[in-house]
Amino acid sequence: MAIATRYKIKFTCGHTEIKDLGTTPPGKRVSKARWMGDTYTCTTCFKAADRKDLDKLNADTLADAEVFGQHHDLPDLEGSDKQLPWATRVRYQLLTDGLDDIGHDSPEAQELITAARTITRCGWWIDYKDADPDEVFEVVTTGAIKAKEQAQNHVASENPF
Ligand SMILES: [Zn+2]
Repeated sequence: MAIATRYKIKFTCGHTEIKDLGTTPPGKRVSKARWMGDTYTCTTCFKAADRKDLDKLNADTLADAEVFGQHHDLPDLEGSDKQLPWATRVRYQLLTDGLDDIGHDSPEAQELITAARTITRCGWWIDYKDADPDEVFEVVTTGAIKAKEQAQNHVASENPF
């Protein structure tokens, strides 16, 4: 008779899950199954805990981002409810990375913050969320020039004369 590879394991959270222990030598599967049950939570509870950690991390970052925004006189962003906390965190992370790269007291630092103040569209920040620290200055100052052009075009197109 073949030795089973799939074991029903009761985890520390009280939930039961079937696990394939095919990679464990047959003689050790029963003790491995017992050890796993005594050691871990089920996959669902593990993911939920991970998710909670992430939510907490995001909330902490958002609080830091708001303090940073006030300190640097950054405007509120414009976008959907879903985009707002995300883009606010991205803006904070990009700008702190950028400032770390160019130096917080450098002449470029002021230029970077001034440029950042003119970019209020959530989507823009989210688009550049993966920019490297040494790219931030260029990306943001270029973005500010484009934002200004767009604002001017917008005004021009509304001008009836
Ligand atoms: Zn569970």
